[in-house]
Amino acid sequence: MVRAGGVRFGMPSDSPIAIPVLAVRVGDTIFKDRATKPLTVDEIDWVLEHEHGPIARFIGVPEGNARRTWVYRLSGVIGCFNAPDDEALEEREPTLRSVDLIGGDVSRGVVSQYEIAAKDLTGDHLGLFIGAHSDDGKFNVPAQIIEIHQIPNRATRPGAVVTVRIGETPSQPARVDGGLYPPEQVFEIIELFQEGDPEYRHPRCYVNTRGGCSATISGEHYVSHGLIKLFTFDDPNATIQHNHGAGIVRPVKPKKFVANVLCTSHNHGLHPADDAAISFARFIRDIALEWRGGAGAWGDEAEVHISGDDFQRWALKLLLNHAAANAFTGNGGRVSTPIPPEAVDILLGRAEWPETWGMCVASQVDSPLTFDPFRNPEPILSDWWSAQPFLANGTNAICGGTVRLAGVEFGITLYNQGRELEAFSAPENPIRGSIQRPSFMRWEFEGVGKTVYFSWEDGWEHKTITYTMRR
Ligand SMILES: [Zn+2]
Repeated sequence: MVRAGGVRFGMPSDSPIAIPVLAVRVGDTIFKDRATKPLTVDEIDWVLEHEHGPIARFIGVPEGNARRTWVYRLSGVIGCFNAPDDEALEEREPTLRSVDLIGGDVSRGVVSQYEIAAKDLTGDHLGLFIGAHSDDGKFNVPAQIIEIHQIPNRATRPGAVVTVRIGETPSQPARVDGGLYPPEQVFEIIELFQEGDPEYRHPRCYVNTRGGCSATISGEHYVSHGLIKLFTFDDPNATIQHNHGAGIVRPVKPKKFVANVLCTSHNHGLHPADDAAISFARFIRDIALEWRGGAGAWGDEAEVHISGDDFQRWALKLLLNHAAANAFTGNGGRVSTPIPPEAVDILLGRAEWPETWGMCVASQVDSPLTFDPFRNPEPILSDWWSAQPFLANGTNAICGGTVRLAGVEFGITLYNQGRELEAFSAPENPIRGSIQRPSFMRWEFEGVGKTVYFSWEDGWEHKTITYTMRR
């Protein structure tokens, strides 16, 4: 069973927001359940090598002469009352300082290197490498971070205890080393891997499930940059933001409306999907600007031909970009939304969409999916896009959603829509009154139509839909 994650405006401060355990910082007030008093974090132990796997130990501020400690696996999520907003998260994002080729012809590799202060080390940095050398100074050797203990509030010596395992060199065996570092001490994090290795999985690329990543992460626009330019009429002073309480909540320049969730290679490979969305939006927008909500001219018959497969992929990508950045809300706050591996395979074209999954559009006037981009100019001038997820009960994994572009809404499901069932027409079904993957959508006024033709490579039957308009 599936429910829609509701868009919420503003976030209630008295209920916790779910954030990854890895994102908890000293000073956060975290929440376990209604029976347990929240814990304000005073110190954190990040431990990579623990008998139960990587863990975080959150140590509370002293209460009398006792301190409570909560221990978590790193892969989980936890409620947080004062989760860092996205601007703070963005600042915390280390900037890539250099990308260089190293080594000889045979073992060409890529090093990406960035600096980070000891106080900013979090669980995200466990397992990464910093530069070290053998005691005799002859060999450079990577040192892997296996433990971080943040103690910023200690009166005498605040800082971070960092433990690393230094690799083996010809002159000495591997060993564990480390110490207490002042908060502003800078570390150089080094990421080293083979260039062009088809197996390489960039840790921050959400489609990395089967490798194929490049060494650099790229800023992926939450919604295609080409669409933003189209709807802001190329205004250089235009700004954009999310208005549902998560994601980027303050206005930013379009080029900053990005999440670092795809590697450069995978980002590039998904461009045809953006082109399909831009073709659709431009066609609808141009008609709406002439028609002016009925005050202008409808004009002649017109049509546009678009790859339905690419358009469907674009809608899925929009949803997954937001899911990867945990930029959706639901259950009263920001939610952590895992991406199922099959969604990645479909997005990258490694797997076909099952026939009963995928895109759908309104086919009845009472469908919750909006289908009239021409009644008023809102969808063209300001409110030109939105995305809302469907989340799986229990896990909050993304299993589809709705995407609205230029006033037309598209349902996307990563599950069997159950069209043959009575429950499909139930009021709570967000895609009731719809048809799947139309071969065209046509808006008709006094017998004159504007038609979007979708081509499909799947070989299935495709219905058509004509919306008849009155002035
Ligand atoms: Zn990738």
